[in-house]
Amino acid sequence: MKFLKSLLLVAPLTVALRLDRRGKVIYDGYKIFRVAPGDNVADFEARLESLEAIDLTHNHGHIDEEHFDIAVPPENLSAFEGLNFTSEVLTEDLGVDIALEGEFAEYPELSAVAALPSLSWFNAYHAYSDHLTFLKDIQSSFSSNSELITAGKSFEGRDIQGIHLWGSGGKDSKPAVYFHGNVHAREWISSKVVEYLTYQLVANYNNDTTIKGFLDSYDFYILPIVNPDGFLYTQTTNRLWRKNRQTRSGTSAVGTDVNRNWPYKWDGEGSSTSPGSALGDQLAKKKGIKLYIDWHSYGQYILTPYGYSCSAAASNQAKQNSLAKNTASAIAKPYGTQFTTGPICSTLYAAAGGSNDYVTDVNKAEFGWAIELRDTGRNGFTLPANQILPTGIEVWEGMKYLFANM
Ligand SMILES: [Zn+2]
Repeated sequence: MKFLKSLLLVAPLTVALRLDRRGKVIYDGYKIFRVAPGDNVADFEARLESLEAIDLTHNHGHIDEEHFDIAVPPENLSAFEGLNFTSEVLTEDLGVDIALEGEFAEYPELSAVAALPSLSWFNAYHAYSDHLTFLKDIQSSFSSNSELITAGKSFEGRDIQGIHLWGSGGKDSKPAVYFHGNVHAREWISSKVVEYLTYQLVANYNNDTTIKGFLDSYDFYILPIVNPDGFLYTQTTNRLWRKNRQTRSGTSAVGTDVNRNWPYKWDGEGSSTSPGSALGDQLAKKKGIKLYIDWHSYGQYILTPYGYSCSAAASNQAKQNSLAKNTASAIAKPYGTQFTTGPICSTLYAAAGGSNDYVTDVNKAEFGWAIELRDTGRNGFTLPANQILPTGIEVWEGMKYLFANM
């Protein structure tokens, strides 16, 4: 069970980080490698620690060709290269990649009261407070068919903000579609894509009968940034922070992995106060859940249940498989971007406590998915701003197929 053991390595390592004058972590000169340690996983882990390398691995690839993406600090590069692990360079300089994400843009002015936000929103990354403004402006441009919602408070006391959209049948009259973005703090493309999908639904409701049909068939509950504390921390302090900012008794470590803490088939401590359970409560809707998608990056995967076991299959597995495959084909149409599809466990690795297992079995969602967006590692979490719009465009193609055929 090599792949199960390796999951334990996701725990953050102790790293002496350099800070700039504003207290933000400097990643200049860090080089990112994809390493295939083969059977030497334990040895590799020990080396990582001594090199003060940062494990960026979101998923470890297929279980037969397990890999790690690691950022090695400049002072330890020659020591790492001397170890002769099988590796390839993904990024020559992480500091350059972070610069390529671009400066945060100003929030684009609205052209009129109750107007849609400008599409230029998708040309750049933005400050957290502007994401809240974007959501408010989308809502007021579609005021009779939407409302702002909150899914409780974050650990640091911020509202977890979202929007609920509905069609001609009125509020709460149809099965639910749920989108959760930025559960993992550093995966910035995920909130941008969730916002792009929201934008397209709202912008086209009155002029496209197909899209009107989607909103007339489902109530959409959309939370672009599920982890506001962590997201803000990636903007102010450490671009590569993954978790939330929850402190726990008995440890000085900060952060709980929201995605690994859904209280289902999960033996971890404190499941009743886990971040996942509050979100799970929000999912209890009268008309049932048609589709749930937890949006992540990176890797280009469409992942269906189950994660906790490779022998468990959803009762509608065949339909899930064909929908996921055809959604991937639709995503590939605009730019040829290839997504791999399949159940989490057999496609990647066994992972307990994930949101898709939870919504599938506890909330009885018909389709409980996770999607890993661009890319496959070249830019990883720091996807350049000029890829936001193309990523939104290709995923919208996939969602149009999925909404029409699910
Ligand atoms: Zn993630």
